[in-house]
Order: sequence, then C-alpha cells, then structure tokens
Amino acid sequence: MQSRIKALSKMGRLEKLMDINTLEFEFNSSPFMGKWLIEALDLSFGYAGGLPLINNLSLSVGKKDRVAIIGKNGKGKTTFLNLLAGELAPSTGEVRQHPSLKLAYFGQTNINRLDLKKTIEQEIMEAHPDYSRAAARRICGAMMFDGDKALKKIEILSGGERSRVLLGKLLVSPANMLLLDEPTNHLDMESIDSLVEAINTFDGAVILVTHSELILREVATRLIIFDGGEIRAFEGTYDEFLEKIGWSNEVAESGPAKAKQRINKKEARKLRADLLAEKQKTLGPMQKKMKEIEEEIIRLEQKAEEENRQLLAASQENDPDAIASFSKAYHDSRGKVDQLFDKLEGITAEHDSKVKEFEERFNAIG
Ligand code: ADP
Repeated sequence: MQSRIKALSKMGRLEKLMDINTLEFEFNSSPFMGKWLIEALDLSFGYAGGLPLINNLSLSVGKKDRVAIIGKNGKGKTTFLNLLAGELAPSTGEVRQHPSLKLAYFGQTNINRLDLKKTIEQEIMEAHPDYSRAAARRICGAMMFDGDKALKKIEILSGGERSRVLLGKLLVSPANMLLLDEPTNHLDMESIDSLVEAINTFDGAVILVTHSELILREVATRLIIFDGGEIRAFEGTYDEFLEKIGWSNEVAESGPAKAKQRINKKEARKLRADLLAEKQKTLGPMQKKMKEIEEEIIRLEQKAEEENRQLLAASQENDPDAIASFSKAYHDSRGKVDQLFDKLEGITAEHDSKVKEFEERFNAIG
C-alpha cells in the first residue's frame, strides 16, 4: 500500500513536470477583413493639471502588426494604450477603431476589474458564453490553476495570480487585436515562453508595452519609442533601432544603461550572436536529456504496470516462483523510476536557472 501511494504521488509529479514542459496556450483569433484595425490621428493628451504626455502622435495598426511601445516608466506608455483602447479620450486628435475591431486588453485596469467575489472558473466561463465547465477548467489548468485551485475566489489571489486569471480570460475572448501592458511582469519563465509562442501564432495585431528585451526581440517588428520627451515611431526591430538610432542620453545616462552604451553596436551584435550560440549549446543537451528521461520514465511506468498485473495473476494462481520473480521485477522498475524522477527534477531546476541566467546576460548586452 505504501509503495502504491508513493507510486501515485510520483505519477502526479510526472504529470506536473510534463505539464510545465508542455504548457501551451493560444489566443482565440477573430477574423478581420479591413486594412486598419485602429488609426490614431494626431493624438495629444495630458492629464488635467499635468504636463502634456503625448503630442501629435499618429499610428495606424494593420492586421498582423507587432508593435512594441518602449521607454522609461512614467512617460505615458500605458496612457497611450488607454487612448487606443478608448478608455481615455484624447485632448485633440482622434482614435478610429474599425467596426469589427475586437480588442483583448491585458493591463492593470482590467486586472482591477475582475470580480472579487467570483471564482477563477466563473471568471473564465463568463468571458466566453460557449465555454463549458470542462473547457474553462482546461484554460484554468493552462494558467496553472489546476484542479480545485480553479475554485478559489479572486479576492484571495495575489497580484501575479490575478494577472494569470486575466490572461486566461483573454485567451477565451475572440479578438483580432491584443493590447498587452507589461504582460510578463508576474509570469514565470515557462509561462513567458508560452506567451511569446502564443503571441507569435496569434492571427491578429499585437501592441505591447514591455521592458523585457527577450519579448521585444522575439515579437516586435514596429516600435513606438518614448524617449527624451519625444515619441517616435520606428519601422523595424529593436536591434535595428539600436543599430540605426539608439537611445538618447536621457535613457543612456540612467543607471545600467550607461554601461551598455559603451559597448559599440558591432561588438554588441557579436556578443549577442555568441551568447545565443552558447545558450543553444548549453540548453540543447539539457532539453534532450530531459526528454530522454521522461520517455524512460513513461516506459518504466508501463513496464511496472505490466509486472504488477503479472504479479497479481501469479498470486491468484499461487505460483511462488512467479510471485517472487515478478515482485522483484516490479520493485526494480519502481526503484528506477524513483531515481529517474530525482534526476529529472535536478536537471529541470538547473535548466530553469540557466534560462534565467541567459536572459539576464542578454539584457546586460542591451
Ligand atoms: P508609463 O506607462 O510610461 O509608465 P503612464 O502612462 O502610466 O506611464 O503614466 C504617465 C504619467 O501620467 C505618470 O507621471 C503618471 O503618474 C501620470 N498618470 C497616470 N495615470 C494618471 C491619472 N489617472 N491621472 C493623473 N495622472 C496620471
């Protein structure tokens, strides 16, 4: 009995580990036939009593655009998203939203709008009328609220957990444009990878505010840069921006960015290419090993199951030799499974910490 319990809890561990490695989600794309989803024309805006934050900014966003809004905090990036979303009205200028625009907006305002008295599952189900309980539960699971965790009320959740609920809601709401305001702030590494993948396969436009250079590099093909009191559009990737224009002194002189400026662009490109090669060389074998161990665990679990069946049959037939031999085989297999789990957990932890380390090193290059 003891070993059965142990075996079952180990199975849970496997599911958990496999789950983390294969955590996948997709945004729910809604079709769009027009040219521009959103057109911002000569927008200006400032909060009452404050300085103007945005002056004569124009931006047209088409069907598959990937726009990143970047710059220091407090410059008006979130304000700009709120203008695009129609949450704020511009002082002058206009935001034209196409009639078939369907926005999914991930930001603090929307996190604050979650109903504190509802459960996670209720929030997800209400985001889409066609969602069955089972389908909602799958989304909850993908957002790491598996099983009964989906029944927790929003009021007891942390800020990070609430942002995962909102992300879950966005996944089920059909949309042709995502507005994502610092979506990675409360996500762990695996979820960030899944998010990048989901963004890249999303069949609509994406506008995001982010400080993560990883996301910037993986996603953005157009930029809006809040820098030195100016807002500029740049048609290109972040690397192209650094190469052709670069940050003004305002950003360059603030803290760690200053050191980054001293590395010239060519050098930085080479450093990045070298680091990418090193990353692949380090992580590739680890990922291969993890996969091999998982496959071996699954094979041994099946073998143990079969040996257990034979053990039962042998005991029903009262065959002491067969009982002894199947019992030994069964326990050997389980012992190996235990060892492999320990190994897998060790490698997974090492892998995850390496992933973090590489991201930090990428950020340090700039
Ligand atoms: P960012 O997203 O670039 O960090 P925000 O758009 O959040 O910048 O804010 C820009 C500036 O406007 C900040 O100085 C902030 O304090 C101010 N601000 C933001 N929201 C409001 C508001 N509702 N009323 C007045 N000032 C605000």
